[in-house]
Amino acid sequence: MPDYSINVGNVELVSLSDGEPTRSPFMPFPDTTIEQWREFPHLLDGEEQIRSRYGTTAVRSGGKLIIVDTGLQAPDGSGTLLDDMERKGVDRNAVDLVVFTHLHPDHVGWNLVNGKPTFPYARYLVPRRDWDHWTQAEVVAGAPHISGQVLPLNELNILDLIDDDYPITDELTTISTPGHTPGHVSIVIASQGERGYILGDVAHTPAQAHYTDWNPIFDVQPELARSTRHSVLDMLESEGILVSAGHFPAPGFGHFVRAGDRRQWRGV
Ligand SMILES: [Zn+2]
Repeated sequence: MPDYSINVGNVELVSLSDGEPTRSPFMPFPDTTIEQWREFPHLLDGEEQIRSRYGTTAVRSGGKLIIVDTGLQAPDGSGTLLDDMERKGVDRNAVDLVVFTHLHPDHVGWNLVNGKPTFPYARYLVPRRDWDHWTQAEVVAGAPHISGQVLPLNELNILDLIDDDYPITDELTTISTPGHTPGHVSIVIASQGERGYILGDVAHTPAQAHYTDWNPIFDVQPELARSTRHSVLDMLESEGILVSAGHFPAPGFGHFVRAGDRRQWRGV
C-alpha cells in the first residue's frame, strides 16, 4: 500500500494535498518563541520556516467515495488538489459526498471551478452550526469564500445541513469539536473493531501534541478551541486511535503517543 493510503478496518483513507507553502511559525502562532519551535527541528526548514499543508482526506466507506474538505484553490493557480486526486486514483466524477469539518477558506476552496461544482455528482454536507455562524450578514460580508464557494452550493440545491453525530455511512460519524469555528466537527471512523479519527483543525501542527495550549490566530473561540484540543488529544492518546491530520506533514496519518513527560505526534 502506498504511504498516502491507509486502512481502518474496511475503510480506506487517501491523503490528498492542495499545496504546502512555507511561512513563519509566528504568523499562525504569534505567542510562541523560536526556542520552543527548535524543540521540533523536523518541522523547521533552514530559514526556520514551517510548512503548512492544505490537506484533504478521501474516504472509501460502505461503497461511497467521500471527500473531507476541499483545500484552498489558491488564486495564483498553485493549488494541487485536482492533480493529486488524479495521481492517486481518486476520480472527482465518482465522489458521492463532500463533508466539511468547517467553513474556513482552506477547507472549501475547490467546491466550484468557474461556478461549476468540482464534484458534479456529490452532495455537500455542512455542519449546521458552522453554516449558522458563517452566513450571518456581518460575517459573510467579511468572508468572500462563503459567497464564492459555499452559498452557490445552496443555490444549486446540492448542499445539506447536518446536525451533530451525523452518520455519514455505517462506519463514519461526525462529532462536534467546537472552538476553532463554532460548528467545527471531526469525523469518527469505526470498522471491524478498528478506529480512526479525521481531526480537522482541532490541531494545526505536531508541536501542539506537547504545546496543546497554543492557539493559532484562526481560532474563532480561542478558549473553547483550547479546551476542545486538550480533551480530543487526551482521548486520542489514551485510546491509541489512528488520526488523519490535514495540516500536519504529509501524509498526515499517525498517533498521539506519550514519551516521558511529553506527548508526541508519531507519523505512520
Ligand atoms: Zn480552519
